[in-house]
Amino acid sequence: MKPFEPKQFRQHFPLVVSTNSKNEKLMPLVYFDNGATTQKPDCVIDNYQYFYQNINANVHRASHLLSTKATTAYEHTRESVKSFINAKSNKEIIWTKGTTESINLIAASLGKQILNAGDEIILAVSEHHANVVPWQLIAEQTGAKIKVAILDATGKLDINEFNKLVTNKTKIVCCAHVSNVLAKINPINEIIKKAKSVGAITVIDGAQAVAHFSVDVQALDCDFYVFSAHKMYGPTGVGVLYGKQALLEAMPPYQSGGEMIKVVSFKEQTTFNSLPFKFEAGTPNIAGVVAYAKAISFIRQFDSAEITDYEQQLTHYCYQALNKVFEVEFIVDEMPDIPVITFIIKGHHNHDIATSLDSFGIAIRSGHHCAMPLMEYLNISGCLRVSMAPYNTFAEIDYLIECLNKILNQEHDSLQEELSFQCIESNEAASVVIIDKFSKVKSWDSRHREIMLLGKQLNRLDKNLRDEQTLISGCESLAWLVSSKNSQGVFNFQADSDAKIIRGLLVIVLAAYDGKTAEKIQLFNIEAYFESLGLMQHLSPSRGNGVLAIVDKIKSLTL
Ligand code: PMP
Repeated sequence: MKPFEPKQFRQHFPLVVSTNSKNEKLMPLVYFDNGATTQKPDCVIDNYQYFYQNINANVHRASHLLSTKATTAYEHTRESVKSFINAKSNKEIIWTKGTTESINLIAASLGKQILNAGDEIILAVSEHHANVVPWQLIAEQTGAKIKVAILDATGKLDINEFNKLVTNKTKIVCCAHVSNVLAKINPINEIIKKAKSVGAITVIDGAQAVAHFSVDVQALDCDFYVFSAHKMYGPTGVGVLYGKQALLEAMPPYQSGGEMIKVVSFKEQTTFNSLPFKFEAGTPNIAGVVAYAKAISFIRQFDSAEITDYEQQLTHYCYQALNKVFEVEFIVDEMPDIPVITFIIKGHHNHDIATSLDSFGIAIRSGHHCAMPLMEYLNISGCLRVSMAPYNTFAEIDYLIECLNKILNQEHDSLQEELSFQCIESNEAASVVIIDKFSKVKSWDSRHREIMLLGKQLNRLDKNLRDEQTLISGCESLAWLVSSKNSQGVFNFQADSDAKIIRGLLVIVLAAYDGKTAEKIQLFNIEAYFESLGLMQHLSPSRGNGVLAIVDKIKSLTL
């Protein structure tokens, strides 16, 4: 086993150490979105390419040499995963596309098989949508009922309240080992024990756990444990479904087709392959599975206690530094158990902060984190998440805090000072002024600042006008648009959003359309306008789609 040395460890991740060359100012890339997916070490990247250059063939099907090599490499990874989580047998390791597909498989196969009307499924309120929606769908089909377990003050599932929910009608209990928002280790030993006492099946979502601490499924004695390779340095499109053999044997197939059959006949009943192949229909992500073994051996070569220690140091450092920023409010007051910190910035929309940080080359996550029920429970619309990996550094945290303070101070200063923009009077001139202004600023962070400043020009829309009818659907943040037409057929628009960046984008779009007739609106070349502002290439696809949704709404209102 190798000692863990942070600087050397970081060197294994080419995307982390390289400067992001697309970035206009050649600013560093600071990647703090590891909870969404981790970066990949060079051995995984190389192996992926090596597979296609030297081994590529389909698995299990042919009797030629390449197929044998591919199958051996593919099955070797299953062995690695078995050992990684201490499963009893390779038969208990099923390949899927990811955590989401693993849960869908369990819900569709086992859920359909065992659930009847009135039966109960218990979920934690903090579950990721991947561990909510498949159960909602199956509950609808079977008449089963979903019961929701709440949290204690530390952000973990409240075990006392959970115990009260469990009855002899409880058939399935689903819980994340660690929530992707709250970052606290749930009391899954107690959860599993209680579920067992009524004979309920336990499904543990380990998506956020496997990258940060070792998991022993036999010690846990859970029925199912699911996770994704891409959150632990492996390729995307590879997931694991661990299930106890006896349960998997008894479950009907999920998808059907090649590989999962024994005999297919039109005369007799089609029969199915043995485990694990019964659940692996069609050609799998062979190169991904093969390269995943490299991710496992890569991470297992280091002393895991040293990695955990470093992750904890990063977490403490970041938590304390964020704590000093006046506007920061943590979602959970306790120190997180994994290096994932979630918070809001008082008085600011989380998307605004994340977009501003992006303009400094810092990638963090904002929004509901695929945990809308949790957002509702916490009474927030979304939050920010800094999620770290052992290749992150203290210097990166310092840079994050420096940029965050810059953004917050900038905001403060610009509130004091007059807008750098003159207020745009005539709308015919508005788009010209904007184009002129944008042509003078070259870097994305300056443009971004101008967009935020533009947002201040937008009058707030009366609350009564913010409703379902005026809502712009397709926008990641909330945004509303109201139109009116005068006797000459000229349209005027009012708009608003809960995010400053969207308010700025609304000013830009409205400058193109406000005060025009329907004909002029339809004819206006909006793509060329965006092009001249150098806008779309810098916006994330979801932001870009948001802008297009504003355009679509205007066009449909004026048709
Ligand atoms: N569960 C949790 C706790 C997660 O964090 C995620 C990924 N954000 C998922 C499930 C879904 O994982 P995947 O998208 O890889 O299927």
